[in-house]
Amino acid sequence: MKKFINYIDAFLYRTERCEINENYIKVSHKKGYPKRLAINRKFESQAFLNLEEREMEMQIKKGSLDFSLIRKKTEDESEKMVGFLRDLIALPSPSGCERDVALRIKEEMDRLGFDEAFIDDYGSVIGRIGKGSPCLVFDGHIDTVGVADPTAWSFDPFKGKVEDGFVYGRGASDNKAAPVVQIYGLNVLKELVGGNFPCTVYVVGSVQEEACDGLALGHAIQYSIKEKVDAVVLGECTGCAIYRGHRGRMEIMVSTAGISSHASAPERGDNAVYKMAPIIKEVESLNAKLKDDSFLGKGTIAVTKIECNTDSINCIPYACRIYLDRRLTAGEDRELALRQIKELTSASDADVKVLRFTEPSYTGKVLDTEKYYPTWVLPEEHRLVQDARGAYLALFGCEPKIGKWTFSTNGVSSMGWLGIPTIGFGPGEEIFAHTNQDKCSIEDLRTACAFYAALPAFVS
Ligand SMILES: [Zn+2]
Repeated sequence: MKKFINYIDAFLYRTERCEINENYIKVSHKKGYPKRLAINRKFESQAFLNLEEREMEMQIKKGSLDFSLIRKKTEDESEKMVGFLRDLIALPSPSGCERDVALRIKEEMDRLGFDEAFIDDYGSVIGRIGKGSPCLVFDGHIDTVGVADPTAWSFDPFKGKVEDGFVYGRGASDNKAAPVVQIYGLNVLKELVGGNFPCTVYVVGSVQEEACDGLALGHAIQYSIKEKVDAVVLGECTGCAIYRGHRGRMEIMVSTAGISSHASAPERGDNAVYKMAPIIKEVESLNAKLKDDSFLGKGTIAVTKIECNTDSINCIPYACRIYLDRRLTAGEDRELALRQIKELTSASDADVKVLRFTEPSYTGKVLDTEKYYPTWVLPEEHRLVQDARGAYLALFGCEPKIGKWTFSTNGVSSMGWLGIPTIGFGPGEEIFAHTNQDKCSIEDLRTACAFYAALPAFVS
């Protein structure tokens, strides 16, 4: 009975007293117990829980965890995590060149005793611990953007400088810290529970995310992982908050065609650039009229590139193209976004199409796909968000922040295309991503590592 009460105690985190009969458990709480349990509250400070089999199982999983020990073990692993992150930073991995970093991650998975570790045909590194239901995927992309102007950096982007409690370098925040905390988090849990690992967890170090969000993760989930995935947790930087969605996006090309002539007699030709000019003005006005959403923010559209074909400076251009970055908020999708452009008065003769991604990965494999990345949001009351919240509460005794990303992530495939419940929890701050200030705090590494250690016992 005492053991059972401990299970319940861990489940409720803040239990003062617990009585059990065959129909219900009557629990008295201290103040401030998790809101999720308030639905079971019948009288002031008492809760009545139906003992469904699954809930019992979950309570036992959670009850077997010592959260202060998880935090302690996470502290102990700090140095190794910093070392591993520095190793990953020292292996430059722009999209399409991730082989070395994938091999280094596989080596760490093998060394720590993952049940399996392999590199799939698209080049993503995948490791598994545990078996049975549910099946979770922890994802972090292992490619980075380039360094742009190397002289604009005050530190070596590939050294992994450690200073003032931060690790610095290209990919520190976006997103090399993710596999570090996910792999070490699972290792902490494995050391605590031994053979009683609570479920199946795959860690995916996905490639090509900066070039085509969602492509590698979607491929891994559909083809490389041979079982049904129940939930996905993205390690993209959230500053250790729980994120539950972001706007979608599209890359669109609009083309106009004209007739070339000698520039000394422009009236003999038909200038394709002049045909594009009013379209650009209309796109600018369209931006102000796009839908807004209280959680995700406003849909946006912007011309980000313009080019034309002309035989020389003294010829009239016979073709012109603009490229559009379209961010899609809740309720906006591919068809709506394309229709809005095709319906612009000046675009009636223009050709409008979504660009395609056809770059090979470092393995040489091409996954030809349209550059449409759907919007996704998981409701705050969704069980996965609340399970993650429960894990955070149990570990740290306070409410996590729950929010959204400004940028786009691999969630466009896991939830946007495949409909698998997805959340994010990552070390590092979004504001440092893609900048010459790229860094991740060591405190965040510890927090996120503890979170990933506890989470598998909470996901129901
Ligand atoms: Zn990222």
